[in-house]
Amino acid sequence: MTVVVGEIPESTGVLVVGAGPGGYVAALRAAQAGRRVTLVERDRVGGTCLNVGCIPSKALIAVADLYHRAAEGGRFGVHVADRPDWAGVQDHLRRSVAELTAGVGQLLDSAGVGVVTGTARFVGPRRVAVHDEHGMRHLEFDDCILATGSRPASLPSLPVDGVRVLDSTGALFLAERPASVAVVGGGYIGVELGTALAKLGVSVTVVERAERILPELDASLAAVVARRLRALGVTVRTGRSADAPTAAGLVLDDGSVVEAERIVVAVGRVPNSDDLGLEHAGVEPRPDGRLAVGPDRRLGRHLFAIGDLTDGPALAHKATAEAEVAVAALCGEPARFEPAAIPAVVFSDPEIATVGLTRAQADDAGLGGTAFRFPLGANARARVAGEVAGHAEVVVDAASTVVGVHLVGVHVSELAGEAALAIEMAATLDDLTAVIHPHPTISEAVLEAALGAAGRPLHVHRRPGRPAR
Ligand code: FAD
Repeated sequence: MTVVVGEIPESTGVLVVGAGPGGYVAALRAAQAGRRVTLVERDRVGGTCLNVGCIPSKALIAVADLYHRAAEGGRFGVHVADRPDWAGVQDHLRRSVAELTAGVGQLLDSAGVGVVTGTARFVGPRRVAVHDEHGMRHLEFDDCILATGSRPASLPSLPVDGVRVLDSTGALFLAERPASVAVVGGGYIGVELGTALAKLGVSVTVVERAERILPELDASLAAVVARRLRALGVTVRTGRSADAPTAAGLVLDDGSVVEAERIVVAVGRVPNSDDLGLEHAGVEPRPDGRLAVGPDRRLGRHLFAIGDLTDGPALAHKATAEAEVAVAALCGEPARFEPAAIPAVVFSDPEIATVGLTRAQADDAGLGGTAFRFPLGANARARVAGEVAGHAEVVVDAASTVVGVHLVGVHVSELAGEAALAIEMAATLDDLTAVIHPHPTISEAVLEAALGAAGRPLHVHRRPGRPAR
């Protein structure tokens, strides 16, 4: 593409702003639909997820698990003695990111998507100015999809300096292994980071303002992870807020001091809507910075928004699913983003996979159904892996339709897809129990929970006449 510096606009069919899992998928799909597509990204293709989120965090967790299991190998009769090679750990993170982002770059290239590096800002309803270090260009579009994602939320009392006080990105790409870390925020990002660092030999304290960690998830799931954190030597300070950093560490609101070489602030994410010049497009973000879209992700006739910028869980697969809907809609197809459930996974130890309604939510909604919780201690695969903590719970409505599946245990992240499929297809307990689940796998726990909910528990005792819940 020729660079036109100044105000003479280039034109494009579909302009996508932001190349995360929402934006790059939207760009690919729009190009596949035959549209001329320009994708503007101010940083690196792949967005938060591939560069500083899902991928490096799961790479760190994979290395931490490997090291920790090797270090704990004695209980399986395997004795390995070594220390983590921090440079090697960081190399694995960077390689994972580089391989996946290169793959996305190749996909965009072969689909004919024009990728422009720079920061986009609206200067009119159908026009953006794109700034980079070389200057500015104007792009006019027929349709535009905004996918600018989110950034870490900050705490005024704990400004991130990239040295002592870090955000999640700083915590992932530490040049050296710190002796001790205080993680402020016990949501999924804080818990994942804290667990991985603890497994790699760092002394970790997690500080959470709510009365328990993972406050947005069902308490029965969070409790299993909280127990494991304690077993890993992680100190969890709930019901406490971080006040300020000191030379020794972090002062909490009760005056106590958490000793910590580094402080990691993981207190949520803020949508990137404030610097987009949205007023020129006639769009006003809500007070929380999110953009209110219609069911087809439309903000205006030719303007769409997807991903962390919009309501719903800030998750990569949600952004990608919305990209499909937005592109279908701008191509004139009937499209609505109305999933029966959006799966959420926490790569904690053990993992959590939660899809659909919890039993409390089903009760509150008056669905009149039942639920059954199957302990992983009764699952053969969990036993041979030596990882028996956790359970599988299936929640159904009065018609025995599956409305929720909630799992905590080893490898359960891989079962979130099965759970989402069951809920999306409105499977009943008869459907789920008729599916043969392979032995010995953790997936059998889902079958066992469904059998229990159907009143026919198999590998678990239940006193006659006792209700399923
Ligand atoms: P983003 O991925 O945030 O991409 C937005 C892009 O837009 C960025 O590249 C940004 O540079 C660019 N941009 C912003 N403004 C402009 C502008 N004006 N002009 C040009 N470009 C712009 N989600 C999961 O589903 N699973 C996980 O395991 C998971 N783990 C995570 C771990 C961590 C540590 C973090 C921080 C996040 C994690 N997430 C995870 C969340 C996930 O990363 C986000 O939900 C997802 O990336 C959102 O996608 P998006 O396309 O909306 O935006």
